[in-house]
Amino acid sequence: MHTTYSWPNGKRCAAAFSIDFDGESPYLWRTRNAPSNALGELEQRAFGPRQGIYRILEMLDRLDIKASFYIPGIIAEKYPMAVEAIAKGGHEIGLHGYLHERVDELSEEQVEESIVLGKQALEKVIGPRTMGFRSPSWEMTPDTFKLLQRHGIPYDSSMMGYDHPYWIDGLPEVPVQWLLDDAIFYRYFGGFSGNPPLNPNTVTDTWYQEFEGIKRYGGLFLLTVHCWISGRGSRIIALERLLTRLKNDPEVWWATCEEIAAYHAGQYAGQFHEPLGGGWL
Ligand SMILES: [Zn+2]
Repeated sequence: MHTTYSWPNGKRCAAAFSIDFDGESPYLWRTRNAPSNALGELEQRAFGPRQGIYRILEMLDRLDIKASFYIPGIIAEKYPMAVEAIAKGGHEIGLHGYLHERVDELSEEQVEESIVLGKQALEKVIGPRTMGFRSPSWEMTPDTFKLLQRHGIPYDSSMMGYDHPYWIDGLPEVPVQWLLDDAIFYRYFGGFSGNPPLNPNTVTDTWYQEFEGIKRYGGLFLLTVHCWISGRGSRIIALERLLTRLKNDPEVWWATCEEIAAYHAGQYAGQFHEPLGGGWL
């Protein structure tokens, strides 16, 4: 069945800006069983919580955009001032594991521990609150969906099964997609391995083209960036230009992921339901 998704106030499509505030955590997770004395990637990633985050917050203030930040517990413990600044800006804060764990590499008990510890670490800085979930590395498991519901997490934002909100096993899903992630265009760790980072104008042109496509079909344009990647000067400049263009488009409903999930739950209670694993598992 094909149904066009409708948005509040007759808007043609929705837009949201999300930040996966990873800092060093993916590196710490990846090397947890094989510690190394190499500093390069750690310092490259620390640029995010030291400088990148503040540039992104300032840009969001200038644009008057409220964004959705997903923060691993260990980063909230190491950089509480950055988390406070995010909260002070009125942005949404959501869960992103404790040590940026890939949930498909964990037992159900370990996933639960990562959710609980991640939430505790954030609440220590910003106080108790309901928070949505974005899985580290955008991987999910049936167990994880069950656990989110058991812990009262109101939505997930890690999957790509539609380009507008839908339901997985009764939980609202606010979908991401790789084309709208800065990492695939810029992530580079030296050693001449992998592709060199792309020109920021090429990246934001690609994002704008995808925005036009999403607008045509009435979907959700959910962009995801990382402070250690997109906090670099030329990338911020290009990003701000793109977001200004989208912010000035009268046919776009701007919202946080939390607001989008709540809208979906209210308007589409009976539609766009999918079982875990799409019925294949
Ligand atoms: Zn992440």
